[in-house]
Amino acid sequence: MSRSHASPPRARRERVPQAESEFRNPLPRLTARVFSDLAIWMTGLGLVMGLVFPFFVMAFGVPSMYVVSFRFFVATIGAGLVVGATNHLLSRTVVGSRLRYMSSKMATVEQTLRDAMVSTDADQCTPEKCSIVVDSDDELGDAAASFNHLVEALAESHRATNLANSLATTLSSHIELTPLVEAALRVLHDSGGYDASALCIVRDGELVTVTSKGIADPAQLAGSELVQRAYRTLDTISVDLPTDIELDGGIVAFRPRSVVAYPLHVRFVPIGVVVLASTQPVDDRQMHNVQPLLPNFAVALNNALSHERLQRVAAIDPLTGLYNRRFGMERLSQEFSRSVRSKEPLGLLLFDIDHFKSVNDTYGHHAGDAVLTAIADGVKRVLREGDTLMRYGGEEFLAVLPGAGEADVRGLGERIRRVVESSVTIESNVEIHVTVSLGAVSFPSADVTDLDDLIRKADSAMYCAKQAGRNRLTFVDV
Ligand code: GH3
Ligand code: MG
Ligand code: MG
Repeated sequence: MSRSHASPPRARRERVPQAESEFRNPLPRLTARVFSDLAIWMTGLGLVMGLVFPFFVMAFGVPSMYVVSFRFFVATIGAGLVVGATNHLLSRTVVGSRLRYMSSKMATVEQTLRDAMVSTDADQCTPEKCSIVVDSDDELGDAAASFNHLVEALAESHRATNLANSLATTLSSHIELTPLVEAALRVLHDSGGYDASALCIVRDGELVTVTSKGIADPAQLAGSELVQRAYRTLDTISVDLPTDIELDGGIVAFRPRSVVAYPLHVRFVPIGVVVLASTQPVDDRQMHNVQPLLPNFAVALNNALSHERLQRVAAIDPLTGLYNRRFGMERLSQEFSRSVRSKEPLGLLLFDIDHFKSVNDTYGHHAGDAVLTAIADGVKRVLREGDTLMRYGGEEFLAVLPGAGEADVRGLGERIRRVVESSVTIESNVEIHVTVSLGAVSFPSADVTDLDDLIRKADSAMYCAKQAGRNRLTFVDV
């Protein structure tokens, strides 16, 4: 029979009751044991003192007739017992009250830690709340000081756990590179009260700063000796008073007191460097808090980089660097929906290289590729920010122009036509000139039923331009 290991998730964890926490605190039981042992020892001591005292005074010349009697024995034993009991009471009052104080603090620490385990909003163990006043230079004072150190260590470990949890949550909630690195760096930046932070990653074989906070010159940072060394050696490098890194102080840039560069690698392949800078010295403890978080960060960063590469491969035409048709059409579909909703115009320019087959036939396929790339580069420069240019087919391109009414589309189309007409591609010392024919349309002035209809209209306008003699723009007949 198979056993299921799955247990239902607990909906809510209850606060641990105070009574249970007191039961777990061993100090009250220890003190009770000490005081009962003490009572036996004190009573025994009183008894022994009473028995020994008569012989003790005889050694000082007191005649035995006065001391070796039943009444004297009873009196001295009684006196010994009273002294023993008094000592016991005094120690209970003086030592016991301090031990009880320590015990109550232990209970507070325990309850605070248990509350913090079930709720992130729980109070932290601050020195005022959990520490003991060290007011004596004896064993009890030493015990109090040790207790305070223990509380500090617990608080430190609690902070490290919270930081790890917070970073893990951040890393698991992002897959896109930019939001991931920004959120993760924010967590690290805030973890130790740093004044500046940055992340450099490898892009196209070069280390570049992708996000930063408080660094005066982020572009220079990736090339700094400190970052380069951490990247090359995969060692964490810490520098006091660095000479080549400055913090952004608003009006003036100033030097940090400490800068630490943490390399990020996946199986010893470097993928980036995290830089944390502070105007205060950064100690080993702070560095040890950050160090264990880096392997997970590196893996998440590597995943985001792979994701970005895949997105790029899926969206970009490798020859021209333009959006490919699949990705470009998604963009167009979004822009069309936005235009329908907002009633903002949307322009389309579909254009095709004239007699391109003869370019290939005359100069070769390689020269044809160079012409395609040159046209893509030239047209990109003409378009406005926010426009999308895609490779629609072999030697056909589609420009999506959000906000472009009839006049804008005509103007842009004419500029594209002229740019192509006037550009020259030189291949093997031969100048190649080409022209394009363009079909233009603008929504909503064109009466279309849907997006396919809009594209059909641009296509038939381009066909008209070809028919009319090429190297011209035809606006859709509305
Ligand atoms: P038109 O003026 O009517 O458009 O004539 P055209 O010769 O440009 O049109 P056609 O459709 O006859 O030929 C298009 C050519 O484009 C054929 C094809 O080999 C070429 N082509 C398509 N994609 C590429 C490419 O990626 N590189 C190169 N070099 N040529 C390509
Ligand atoms: Mg053509
Ligand atoms: Mg064609």
